[in-house]
Amino acid sequence: MTTLSPARSNVADLVIPQYILNDMIAHARELAPHECCGLLAGTKGVVTRMYRIKNIVALDGAQNLSSFDPAKVAHLERLSPAERAEIAFVMDMQDFSAAKKDMRNQGLDLQVVYHSHPHDPARPSVTDIKIATDYEEIWPKINLPTPAYLLVSLMHEEPDVKTYWIKAGRVMKADVVVQ
Ligand SMILES: [Zn+2]
Repeated sequence: MTTLSPARSNVADLVIPQYILNDMIAHARELAPHECCGLLAGTKGVVTRMYRIKNIVALDGAQNLSSFDPAKVAHLERLSPAERAEIAFVMDMQDFSAAKKDMRNQGLDLQVVYHSHPHDPARPSVTDIKIATDYEEIWPKINLPTPAYLLVSLMHEEPDVKTYWIKAGRVMKADVVVQ
């Protein structure tokens, strides 16, 4: 059975402009070996806007952390580098709130949450799946649609980009057109 939801693009689950794809790959390269993260917004599955969000796990030095929640910072500082890598990314809430406000002002919907895997393949880790599953209940509470999850892998010379739906712990490939 074919279902074409009026809320989505008819040609694919998502349409992402080439320049936004390039900008996500540039963001991933700038932050490596840490993971970058961000949001893509648009209308009816067509992405028109990208928001880089600070990954607070990737920040070194207390001066960078002064504006963050002290309890969260204390927690991150207690972790070993391996444990920090395991957590991978924590979005800065100030950046996230600013992006959310801008989306509302521009009449855009959240479409995608992206992050990079500097050394791993472009597929969600066990932690990624767990976080996405936990967030399924949170999105409606903060008035945002459940996004797709895009991964940028820098494991090989040529970056690999793949997008997924994560629902009830199940991972499905999203159908994405880059143009
Ligand atoms: Zn990940």
